[in-house]
Amino acid sequence: MRRRWFDKWFDLHGRYRLPRDQRASPRTSGRHIAERITKASHQREAKAMAKTQWDELWNKANPTTAITLRRMTKMPDTVEGPSLYKGMHRPMATTLAQLRTGHCRLNQYLWRFKKVDNADCDKCGYQRETVEHFLTECPAYYGVRRDLEKALGPEAMTVAFLLGNREAAKATMEFVKKTGRLKA
Ligand SMILES: [Zn+2]
Repeated sequence: MRRRWFDKWFDLHGRYRLPRDQRASPRTSGRHIAERITKASHQREAKAMAKTQWDELWNKANPTTAITLRRMTKMPDTVEGPSLYKGMHRPMATTLAQLRTGHCRLNQYLWRFKKVDNADCDKCGYQRETVEHFLTECPAYYGVRRDLEKALGPEAMTVAFLLGNREAAKATMEFVKKTGRLKA
């Protein structure tokens, strides 16, 4: 029986392997083969990392946050878990995860953990600098927020969508970067 072409490259478990006739020969460990292996293992690693990071944040977040987050992920056009972070570089994924769990440098969180005296927004004086206030309300970021709104449309300006829709989340992370608010 003729073997299918891909039997040469992957075993039954989808693992990469050299073609049978090339397996023992060092001369065939050519660059393109090495690159294929490296790329595949990098992808596996990145995937595992994203999953671990997500699990950690999801499970260790306090119960109230987890409830908020679960409610958030039930919104239409939003996704959850590793698929949300797919293709995102790590610093961006980390910031997104922090905002989704509320564990970030905003005063509401810092105050809860007694790092600051009150939860007030330093920029406008509003009594709670929450994720919602920062993303959708604070007048201090009006200009950058207007750019975000122009890009996504006014109906997109909810926390659930901004942090739960894959495309919106990327734009939201650009907004966050421009505000400079979450910098250490
Ligand atoms: Zn404010």
